[in-house]
Amino acid sequence: MPPWNSYKEHLVSLYGEPVYRIGIDGGFSCPNRENGNGGCVYCDALGASAAWLRTSESSFRRSSPFEETIGQGDCGRSRLPLRERIGAIEKQIEKGRDFILRRYGSRRVSLYFQAFTNTYAPVQDLKKLYDAALDCGDFTELIVSTRPDCLTDETIALLASYRDRVDEVWVELGLQSASDRLLRMMNRGHDVSCWQDAVSRASGSGLKVGAHVILGFPTETDEDQALTVETINRSAVSALKIHNLNITARTALLGDYFKGEITAPSFERHLQSTVLFLRRLRPDIVIERLICETPAHRLASPRQFPDKSAFLRALEQRMRQKGAYQGDLCAN
Ligand code: SF4
Repeated sequence: MPPWNSYKEHLVSLYGEPVYRIGIDGGFSCPNRENGNGGCVYCDALGASAAWLRTSESSFRRSSPFEETIGQGDCGRSRLPLRERIGAIEKQIEKGRDFILRRYGSRRVSLYFQAFTNTYAPVQDLKKLYDAALDCGDFTELIVSTRPDCLTDETIALLASYRDRVDEVWVELGLQSASDRLLRMMNRGHDVSCWQDAVSRASGSGLKVGAHVILGFPTETDEDQALTVETINRSAVSALKIHNLNITARTALLGDYFKGEITAPSFERHLQSTVLFLRRLRPDIVIERLICETPAHRLASPRQFPDKSAFLRALEQRMRQKGAYQGDLCAN
């Protein structure tokens, strides 16, 4: 067991076997990319979709050079008729289930509405989309990723109504940082109190809540990271995804990177930040992710970063050398 509360082990202890997610692109858009908002400065849109659905990327390798103009996610699909979106969801579930059965020999799967903002639609349309997906078979969990400013009480009530169809219903809410200064720099379009409000309304209705954070955004200080971890510790969050900042093609950050004004954290810097972050974090929070995995052809920086397994090995080794574990510096 690694010295952190690993998602994989958590699922096995809860359900007696591994559970795999089928990542769904439900044809949603994102309010922060529409109406001239510009989107989050690190968002390349393509990266917001499920990795296994990006079949056009399969010819690229870890050694592929960076291609500045490659790819651009489609954010206009929410204008497609609902029946087309439902048809696409059904096909994705069938494909995802076959893939998981072939690769892992498992039939135990969860539904993960992953791409863009998965509550960005009138609640009656959301019901049709979620219902259609859940009608495709037996699912362990329903997981819906969204923005904190796009989660009405009506939507929360709809999601909570699915608790009798699956073992757990989750919402994943991007926080990224608990510094309002950094959220403005990221052009997130919401502040920390908006996230806190969404977390407490969702958890108060019986939903499990996961959070996303980015470590190493330009000008982020150790105090900012400490504030982020304290904010999460004081909230009703049950799971966390940690990302190292990736600077990718077709993002607002790329121009600043080319001008030499910003950098992305190196392997060593992300390792140090992650060790400290985990040590300060509440021990019961399940760790679902520890690095970003942007394909090399879309990744301007960092270029010299090992793959996920190598990072996890280095993290475990570093924490064991220090006698550290998740929560050993947590004040809560
Ligand atoms: S909320 Fe997500 S999809 Fe929307 S702009 Fe930000 S990163 Fe992109």
